[in-house]
Amino acid sequence: MAADSQEKSLTAVDVAVIGSGIAGLFLALRCYRNGLSVAIVTKKSLSTSSTNWAQGGIAGVLDIDDEGALEAHVQDTLASGAGLCDEGVVRAVVFDAAARIGDLVEHGVEFDLSADGLYDMAREGGHSDKRILHSRDRTGAEIERALTQGAASEYESGLRILENWMVLDLIRRDLDNPSSGVAGLWCLAPSGKVHTLAARAVVLASGGAGMLHLSTTNPAVATGDGIAMGHRAGADVSDMEFIQFHPTALAVESATPFLISEAMRGHGAVLMTRSEHAAWRAAGGVSAGSAAGDPNASSYMRRYSEKGSLDTRDVVARATDREMKRSGDSHVLLVTEHLDAVELMEEFPTTAAQVAKLGIRLGPDPIPVRPAAHYMVGGVVVDSAGRALCEGAVMPSLYAVGEVARTGLHGANRLASNSLLEAVVYSERAASDLIRKAENGELPALVDDLPRWRDDDLDVLAEHGTLHTDLQALRSMMTNDVGLVKSDARLARAKRRIAHIRSEVVPLWHATKPTQTMVELRNLIICAELVIEASILRRENVGLHYNLDLD
Ligand SMILES: Cc1cc2nc3c(=O)[nH]c(=O)nc-3n(C[C@H](O)[C@H](O)[C@H](O)COP(=O)(O)OP(=O)(O)OC[C@H]3O[C@@H](n4cnc5c(N)ncnc54)[C@H](O)[C@@H]3O)c2cc1C
Repeated sequence: MAADSQEKSLTAVDVAVIGSGIAGLFLALRCYRNGLSVAIVTKKSLSTSSTNWAQGGIAGVLDIDDEGALEAHVQDTLASGAGLCDEGVVRAVVFDAAARIGDLVEHGVEFDLSADGLYDMAREGGHSDKRILHSRDRTGAEIERALTQGAASEYESGLRILENWMVLDLIRRDLDNPSSGVAGLWCLAPSGKVHTLAARAVVLASGGAGMLHLSTTNPAVATGDGIAMGHRAGADVSDMEFIQFHPTALAVESATPFLISEAMRGHGAVLMTRSEHAAWRAAGGVSAGSAAGDPNASSYMRRYSEKGSLDTRDVVARATDREMKRSGDSHVLLVTEHLDAVELMEEFPTTAAQVAKLGIRLGPDPIPVRPAAHYMVGGVVVDSAGRALCEGAVMPSLYAVGEVARTGLHGANRLASNSLLEAVVYSERAASDLIRKAENGELPALVDDLPRWRDDDLDVLAEHGTLHTDLQALRSMMTNDVGLVKSDARLARAKRRIAHIRSEVVPLWHATKPTQTMVELRNLIICAELVIEASILRRENVGLHYNLDLD
């Protein structure tokens, strides 16, 4: 939707929202429908987001009088967080789930019903009960559909939507004083020009940072921009050492990554290294008979866990990472040759269709898979209303909601399907805080004379080749040294390497006009530094953080 004026200043708004996933859209609609002027700035199209790709669903107990069910959701979340959750936050989010899911339904989200007409509740790993609302296996796309339709319907009446506009940075109210908060944004227009947008309040809803790693389940927009911008503006950032990996992403280079569901391993699929698979095949494969033909006996997973390929996400992902590092292979194989091919096609039609595009037949052919960065647990530290903190105190006019925020819900590991829930709960709270402030005349004043972005004298970057090389170096360093399995030596090496990459990129940043590639790389460098630093400081193996030297 709409490009804006050719002037370098955009019309000021009450609330500037960065991002159009569940967090940004939900908050923007709530504020706009309560009389605030709102602009949504989003890097690509309105629906380009991790939200749009979420498969499983949203966790929530719908009967708030069922204390046992609420307590079970609390306990499952605390167990997943490995002792590092904020219990007060967990209890409050679990309690708010029913009301927020009700809001999504009011927005037009259609969750699947079972034969009895009640919501069809699914169960996922780590949940002791069925409490996941879903819309087939594309819940996020259904949520995004409803919310983008809502936003489009408000566009004519004045909700401003800037698609293909990228926020470069937050503008501090007082340059020398981060605790004074922020007063607006600098945005890179599709034309390449930088515009200033003044706002009484700014909401970071910019998602995670999956692009830190070579392999990710996230869309390419997940470059940690909000975390980096918040950090530069002086907001507290925490828990960056906790990055969740999915163990079995399809190992092909593609702009749209594909996950092989954990249900496939539940169905009997077995992980093998390429050499294990070759040896198993050479010994006769399935036809070698019951004992020798059982692929489990040849799987590396047997060396890591009694449960073999059936162990939890973290155990399987870590073991796979170790094997890939040991062999130098870019992937391992998910073997389904010993299973009934017809049954597989019936149970996993989407996967069968997806791998068929690569000439892989479910059943006879092994599927190349590797772990992929999936979810950023850490981020901008916020209070119970989604307000960003600076050295522990509320930072006026800056909010963070969704994956960019660190609320204390997830602790050291996220429980499946709790992230869409967290996003919608905190979006509502931040919106309520903004609406209340507007009603009481307490929203911070607009700043009229915000500084312009000064790049008129700067050159256009002649070639982006070196940036791509630096980006590849960063991603491969993060995957190899700061990924699933860390060590003190690897972290020290990563610290040296990121300093080198920074020294290559920062001079270019200062000398040339900004481009999306350069801005994203600069932000990823900051996120990488935050992950490395947090990983060095964490001296115990807990949740998603695993350092060989702390074993
Ligand atoms: C494949 C996959 C499956 C998942 N499955 C589930 C699930 O079943 N259940 C669950 O609870 N969670 C799931 N998750 C996680 C969940 O989808 C995300 O945590 C959640 O959607 C994040 O929502 P968000 O609004 O915070 O960010 P996003 O949905 O990622 O949206 C971020 C937005 O910010 C924009 N943006 C970023 N930087 C800038 C910038 N500088 N300027 C302007 N715009 C910017 C992006 O373009 C995008 O529109 C899954 C994630 C993935 C990738």
